[in-house]
Amino acid sequence: MLIEHYDLEVFTPPCDPGAERYAARARLTADISEILPYLNATLRGAVYLPEAQALTCRVGAAQKKGGHNIAFHAYEIATSNVEDREGAEKELKGLIDLVNRTWERRAEITPDHTTRQRPTPMAVYKLLPQTNCKQCGEPTCYTFAFKLTAAQKKLADCPPLAEPQFAEKLAALEAIVIEAPAIG
Ligand code: SF4
Repeated sequence: MLIEHYDLEVFTPPCDPGAERYAARARLTADISEILPYLNATLRGAVYLPEAQALTCRVGAAQKKGGHNIAFHAYEIATSNVEDREGAEKELKGLIDLVNRTWERRAEITPDHTTRQRPTPMAVYKLLPQTNCKQCGEPTCYTFAFKLTAAQKKLADCPPLAEPQFAEKLAALEAIVIEAPAIG
């Protein structure tokens, strides 16, 4: 097990007093920077910054108030913009489990040391059906592209993408878009 001991802190960010959103931080006694390339290989949409020994990711796309960020650093794991204290604490514990599970499976994973860029809404839009059919609940494909890049929508929310004529575009989208990793 890589993380055996940690101190957990749940708080309202000082830059946003009164907002009913919570952040949580686990301060670690072990250096987890060695696991970051393995997480980079397994968390789709993660952004890995080797020089900073940091990896960030968007999660919670399906939540009513949109996604939020999680960040892994050498001695810290943090999450922000969670709806309640309990949820923030639970999510952080899930992230610690994720690190420990990934550490145990590392022999089966090829580490990825590259930094991937998040796609722009325009890059995503170019791969969408561009019919503005509204089946995703958005008024236009561009609005959907914008929300997809912000992890507030999932590819599965666009039913036409499942049609055979869009198979190639769907595969290209799957390779670049940010979707929530499985935590816990
Ligand atoms: S469902 Fe897909 S094709 Fe239709 S508007 Fe939304 S993104 Fe565009």
